[in-house]
Amino acid sequence: MRVGFSKDIHVFKNGNFIILGGVKIPCDKSFIAHSDGDVVFHSLAEALLGSLALGDLGKYFPENDPKYDNYDSSLIVIKCYEMVKKLNYHISNIDISIELENIKLRNYIEEIRKNIANTLDINLDKVSVKAMTNEKQDSTGKGLSCISYCVVCVEEN
Ligand SMILES: [Zn+2]
Repeated sequence: MRVGFSKDIHVFKNGNFIILGGVKIPCDKSFIAHSDGDVVFHSLAEALLGSLALGDLGKYFPENDPKYDNYDSSLIVIKCYEMVKKLNYHISNIDISIELENIKLRNYIEEIRKNIANTLDINLDKVSVKAMTNEKQDSTGKGLSCISYCVVCVEEN
């Protein structure tokens, strides 16, 4: 059994929606990013790489590569899990904490969990997604950015 961890942050600009875990959340913001800025999928993908010491996301999906402009981040997650599966491991469980202020995720958490489970083709009970504020502190607390932390546990087949 092995454990991977990662964190991702993206900064907000004015907009109409953000995407977290592949789920569109209407709000007055959007992410400044080359891709869709999906911090949840990015942290999950990199945690998967971390679990088997495969390096970081930038190694496989360089930010300056125009191929990844507006790239669907679910594909990044799928590709990273394929690397894990190739090494004969499968996901035991995923735990994600999303840190952001002023945008209520309560009504979206279940949809995000389901979408992650569907994207990876794993059972829903293996996927935990939680939301928290940063008590008005730092960039997330001031509503300027969003962070996702992810721990993933993988088991050898
Ligand atoms: Zn990112």
